[in-house]
Amino acid sequence: MAEWFNIFRSLCVVKMFLICLLFTTDIIAREKQDTVAVTLQLQWNHQFQFAGYYAAKLKGFYQDAGLDVTIKDGGYDEHGHAIVPESEVLFHRAQFGTTRSDLLINHSRGFPLVVLANILQHSPYVFLTTEDYGFNRLEDIGNQRPISLNLPGSGDQRIDAEAVAALLVAGVDLSSLNNHFPTWDLNDLIQGKTQLMPAYITDSPYFLKKAGKAPVAIEPRDYGIDFYGDLLFTSEYMLKEQTEVVSKFRQASLDGWRYALAHPEEIASHIFNTYKMRGEQYDKAFLLYEAQEMMKLINPSVIEVGYINKTRWESIAKVYQHLGLIDHYDLDSFIYQSDTGDDWERFKRWLQLLSFPFILLVGAIFYLSLITLRLRYEVEKRKQAQRELAKQADLDSLTGITNRRGFQKSLDREFNLAKRYENNFTLLILDIDYFKEINDLYGHLAGDLVLQSLVITTQRLLRNTDLFSRFGGEEFVILLPNTPVEKGVLLAERILTVNRDNIVLFEGKEINYTISIGVAEIADEDVTTHDLFKRADALLYQAKDSGRDCIRVEGIPANNE
Ligand code: GH3
Ligand code: MG
Ligand code: MG
Repeated sequence: MAEWFNIFRSLCVVKMFLICLLFTTDIIAREKQDTVAVTLQLQWNHQFQFAGYYAAKLKGFYQDAGLDVTIKDGGYDEHGHAIVPESEVLFHRAQFGTTRSDLLINHSRGFPLVVLANILQHSPYVFLTTEDYGFNRLEDIGNQRPISLNLPGSGDQRIDAEAVAALLVAGVDLSSLNNHFPTWDLNDLIQGKTQLMPAYITDSPYFLKKAGKAPVAIEPRDYGIDFYGDLLFTSEYMLKEQTEVVSKFRQASLDGWRYALAHPEEIASHIFNTYKMRGEQYDKAFLLYEAQEMMKLINPSVIEVGYINKTRWESIAKVYQHLGLIDHYDLDSFIYQSDTGDDWERFKRWLQLLSFPFILLVGAIFYLSLITLRLRYEVEKRKQAQRELAKQADLDSLTGITNRRGFQKSLDREFNLAKRYENNFTLLILDIDYFKEINDLYGHLAGDLVLQSLVITTQRLLRNTDLFSRFGGEEFVILLPNTPVEKGVLLAERILTVNRDNIVLFEGKEINYTISIGVAEIADEDVTTHDLFKRADALLYQAKDSGRDCIRVEGIPANNE
């Protein structure tokens, strides 16, 4: 049993160890396997405008999410073609992109794109001019001065919807404007080729000031047009096929944004040192200026970074409809349902983290239970063995009845009970007559047989409550509880008779034997068992002296001689 337990225990320990090992390697393997390479396509040059994504990469948020992210800058390619993040994502050259709120126009026209987070809560888009040109309201553009905006019919497929909307609110007749295709080149404004151009409030005024010009920014917000600015998006394909990757990328990006906004100096330095900056003018001071301007548009102390407000998208969609840019729109398929996905991801991660210590705990409890069980089993086994030993110690090995030790215990108990409840009990002491001769005549084995036969013969006459013991050698005692001496004598006589008549067969020879008995009842003057025993023993010797094969009783004359 103990060996079996040891083997079982060893197996359990090995099994637990293997489970832990497998579990750990599984987590590590999964982490490794899960490293997915994805590309983020920016809509413009590397600058603080995209700080959150660089921060997520720098601080390991993407890596922790199992993502290997490449951040591609935008603007124009080597052939001078504009890089359109929406096209990059739709054609799987990138999995994520950043763009402006006209993403909704593309979505409404049937392109399966989904907004994941609104980074700039307000659009950085402004109409930029300088003090040199002497106007600061859209109403005062007039139809003479050269301007360059993305208006319908200006030659670009991309229309600056918020510009159009603001102009319409200002009551400007678009067809009368002296508008040209915009180059987004500040030099055009500085040199007077254009007097009004589209720009980002977060960067252009800085460069204009640096060029010695006093910038004037007219904001669409002044005309009630409050669009979302930069946003993060992906494709419906990605959302369906790589739901988890999308969720993780979004979460890590937002963590990056929170970090960048809290540590603008660190991230500005990182961008400056790590990413290829376009043009000499992109210095650290510029990045910090941009950071400060962006903070106003993100407003992280009031609005949760990335927050998407469906109602605001609704009003943006209405403006697009009003301008005839879209017919209908479906915001449910356009806006990412972040809550469920993120919660599920968090729950899964939480489960994964908790399950490892949980398995260890269960294993430890199981192991401890086994040890406790084993201890209990051992203790019980020992107790049982002790009980068995104690029992054996009280028994006579030859005849199977109680020995002197066991008898003494019973005698003490009965004596005390009889004294307390004033019960009577009687003690018989038996001794085989001339037993030495039997041994001498027939041998020691024959003597043993006689002892066994006496026990069997005598035991038949006793009650369950009577206690029969071998006191030593060929001397026996019988304790008769609740028995007066008269009844004890009657029993003694029967014992005497049945043993006299008993014939023991040994190797074809018939052996007869007789016994002598001393009978004594407990008396008031008996202080200890020894007093009673002494009287009974004395009576036995009287019987021996009287010629043996007889009984001697205190105060009662013998009647069987
Ligand atoms: P008495 O009538 O006076 O009792 O004579 P006795 O021979 O019976 O008494 P004694 O005390 O002289 O001898 C007892 C003998 O019992 C001595 C011993 O060898 C024998 N004896 C004691 N225990 C055993 C035993 O377990 N087996 C056998 N075969 N003999 C035993
Ligand atoms: Mg004897
Ligand atoms: Mg004797």
